[in-house]
Amino acid sequence: MDRAALVKELKTILGDDKVISDPVDLLYYSYDSSFLARQHQYIPDVVVTPRSTEQVAAVMRLASRENIAVTPRGAGTGETCGSVAVSGGIILDLSPWDTIEDIDVPNMQVLVRPGVIHAKLNEQLQKHGMFFPPDPGSTRMCTIGGMVANNASGLRAVKYGTTEQYILGLEVVLPNGDVILTGGMKSKAVKSVSGLNLTKLFVGSEGILGVITQIRLRIWPKPKSRGIVMAVYKDLDDAPASVLEVYQAGILPSGIEILDESAIKAVNMYRPDINLPNAEAILLFEVDGNVESVQWEGSRIQEVTGKRAIQVEWATDPKRMADLWEGRSVVAAAAARVRPDGSRVFAGEDISVPLSKVAETLRSIRSLGAKHGIKVVNYGHIGDGNVHTAPVIDPENPKEVEAANKLVDEIHKLAVTLGGTTTGEHGVGAVRAQYAELEHGAAVKVMRSVKKTLDPKGLMNPGKMFPSEGEQ
Ligand SMILES: Cc1cc2nc3c(=O)[nH]c(=O)nc-3n(C[C@H](O)[C@H](O)[C@H](O)COP(=O)(O)OP(=O)(O)OC[C@H]3O[C@@H](n4cnc5c(N)ncnc54)[C@H](O)[C@@H]3O)c2cc1C
Repeated sequence: MDRAALVKELKTILGDDKVISDPVDLLYYSYDSSFLARQHQYIPDVVVTPRSTEQVAAVMRLASRENIAVTPRGAGTGETCGSVAVSGGIILDLSPWDTIEDIDVPNMQVLVRPGVIHAKLNEQLQKHGMFFPPDPGSTRMCTIGGMVANNASGLRAVKYGTTEQYILGLEVVLPNGDVILTGGMKSKAVKSVSGLNLTKLFVGSEGILGVITQIRLRIWPKPKSRGIVMAVYKDLDDAPASVLEVYQAGILPSGIEILDESAIKAVNMYRPDINLPNAEAILLFEVDGNVESVQWEGSRIQEVTGKRAIQVEWATDPKRMADLWEGRSVVAAAAARVRPDGSRVFAGEDISVPLSKVAETLRSIRSLGAKHGIKVVNYGHIGDGNVHTAPVIDPENPKEVEAANKLVDEIHKLAVTLGGTTTGEHGVGAVRAQYAELEHGAAVKVMRSVKKTLDPKGLMNPGKMFPSEGEQ
């Protein structure tokens, strides 16, 4: 089927206003936040914006009949080229389909369509004293569908876990156009062990197995109070040691963030008014709960971290908490400041390692950066070993791009060597598919057979998650 005929048939199925084929408009869909998308231009043949399960199913049936690749897309905030059509074909833009179908407070759950923005859902839930806890930094942009497909999380995952823990059931359109309901989509039970856990199969499947068209989410009561401890360390090794000691004191903070020396310098260059103490590492512990438990946990963390830190501060006053948190809030933007002519590239940005290996990881990344002549800024969610690395280069300089690609490859391999993973939250997409065998060995064969069962023609988001059989 040629492109003109495809566009015509899609318009018949969906209506003219839900089919985008103008080359300028298609450019918008050629990137996400990844460095890979910046290096290449992957332009889809056509984009559609369906608003019903039946419309999605009809598009999938057409694609299957005509052997056309389909890439689901939320807000396109991913860092892995996941929502970019690397093989062309149809992009299913689900972001306009943003209805909150039901907020069922008595049963502590909500039913949403995939395009609902995370922060907007939480704004609605707040009115009921509830929240959906996973909290990606992209909260104001990313969709719930994208979060489910990527099993997204954020700095509060250390206490509240990842998106998968809150998914009660899904409606999924399979590559052949069939529609299935998984888990508790019909039952509303918040606890169920009935049947094979297909919900978990689709959570984190990055659009390679089907299109998520409806999501039943569990919601939780929103804590009433919070507090923050900032602890400053002269010796990097003391930072993870302090984290362990806080856990051993019986406390599970809602967030534990690290800024290493490189991040501290970047923040102070970007915003001298923040004036972070010069040190090897700064930790920020956030605790939440009721007023009394927050007070107790905050004072106890202050006591425990005080054994190793050279400076500790504990705050519950909202203004002071915001000040303490400011350095962490701006670090992603600050990274590029370590080099006046540089840009931060999103690559190798999301490894996760065991807590006992965090200090070694940060030192090794520093050495790798020096080896390749690239400045790297490090920060992240130390509570669950998730290190965010920000290489800063001149992306227009091919030599620097080549060096950055080598550096990133070594960072990914370092994570696996140290008993960690190439991605703690952002996913695999096209940028980390090459590490599938290294990380999962023989399990990749099983992943491929699951993919083949659901998508025998290999049309759903090709080129993502793992290389096709025979490819390297
Ligand atoms: C500034 C910034 C901060 C970020 N912080 C975090 C963070 O703290 N934690 C974190 O986990 N991530 C973070 N991310 C990455 C990203 O925002 C998340 O992965 C997010 O969940 C992606 O949502 P999206 O709607 O943008 O999805 P997209 O980027 O559009 O898509 C992501 C993947 O999901 C698939 N997909 C999307 N919708 C569907 C659907 N309905 N059905 C099937 N597949 C689908 C796509 O094919 C693609 O593979 C950040 C990104 C940015 C730019």
